[in-house]
Amino acid sequence: MKTPVPDYLKHVLTSCRDNEKGALADYIPELAAVDPDKFALALSTVDGTIYSTGDDEVEFTMQSMSKPFAYALALQKVGLTKVMEKVGVEPSGEAFNQISLEKDSNIPKNPMINSGAITTHSLIPYKRTVSRAEQLRRFLSGLAGRELSFDTDVYTSELKTAFRNRSLGYMLRTVGVLEEDPEAIVNGYIKQCSIKVTVKDLAMIAGVLANGGIQPQTGKKLLDRSVVRQVLSVMLTCGMYDAAGDWLTTVGIPAKSGVAGGIIGVLPGQVGIAVFSPRIDEHGHSVRGVDIFERMSREMGLHLMEGTPSAQTILQSRYLTGKRDHVVVYELRGVLQFTESEMLLRILQDEPEGKKRIVLDLTNLTLIHNVGARMLFEGVARLKKDGHPVVVVDSEGILSEAQMKGNKRVVVKEKLTKYLEKFQ
Ligand code: GLU
Repeated sequence: MKTPVPDYLKHVLTSCRDNEKGALADYIPELAAVDPDKFALALSTVDGTIYSTGDDEVEFTMQSMSKPFAYALALQKVGLTKVMEKVGVEPSGEAFNQISLEKDSNIPKNPMINSGAITTHSLIPYKRTVSRAEQLRRFLSGLAGRELSFDTDVYTSELKTAFRNRSLGYMLRTVGVLEEDPEAIVNGYIKQCSIKVTVKDLAMIAGVLANGGIQPQTGKKLLDRSVVRQVLSVMLTCGMYDAAGDWLTTVGIPAKSGVAGGIIGVLPGQVGIAVFSPRIDEHGHSVRGVDIFERMSREMGLHLMEGTPSAQTILQSRYLTGKRDHVVVYELRGVLQFTESEMLLRILQDEPEGKKRIVLDLTNLTLIHNVGARMLFEGVARLKKDGHPVVVVDSEGILSEAQMKGNKRVVVKEKLTKYLEKFQ
């Protein structure tokens, strides 16, 4: 049997192909020379599988899709506090290249519009021999899992017509947001925009964000979870510029577009999606790309606000065992976040006081959030107070050291069956 996912992607591509609305971004001359009919779609899963269809080997420049990753790199390297001193997180409701700053603070409203992105670029630490754009190229190559390169033609083409970005640079220098020569920083920002990718690269890159900062194919941790959360939040509220509200309500996936025709989207914990079709609308978004995202979100139920329904139950089974049925086993399953932990504690509440040994088996849990661990151990403490000996069986090592802190004595690492043998 063959998985139908590639057929579905092909079907989506075919059904959106007829839409020839929009126009090539001609303010960058080199972008006006591309084949407008190129069309590609890719999807990545959090375990590193990439599905793709159409012109999935064609490279195009990231343009503004580089912005969230420059932001991620700056956050990772210099920290949120320093970054927030220079760039805000408020949606601007304005065009991507609007010449404006936040009213009171005089800093760019967010890192997704050009003024904020130029500023973010300036925050990337660099060496004399390795420029900021090169730092970003290396970082993105790590995310994509292959060596990416710059498109020198697009870069030099944009340099010639970058009057507006230069004026943004000078404005930012005037108010002290930029602390160096604005020419060099704007040039670096334009170079960052010229990093070339295919939809497969983009899907892989999106997959890292969907997977909480861990590269799904190599298992390498490339970004802190807190950085991923910050980046995705800003993509959700500001990534689609002055169409962000429309996008959030119809598509509901954190995303970023680029004027070369790419759109990258990330559904946390689930999938990364990337499309490429060069004709763009008045906001700078790929027309067919928007169609595809709307369609896939609807058909695949990907809207963030649909939420993933929490486990209907956290309890797989409860049974008595041991010589005199003096051991009560609770086998748990699914994920342990606040909702499930609350459910679990409510179930444990019904356990009568007494000397029965309580075994909480975590073997079939797939994830324990910190709040889940805290609530679990609070439950353990209360059961003990009621007179029960209590153990937590964690044979798969799902609890982190930090989550176990202060409670290691109640955690058993052996398999449940092995542990229970002692009581037969
Ligand atoms: N390099 C482009 C610019 O700064 C990127 C714009 C975009 O992709 O939205 O104008």
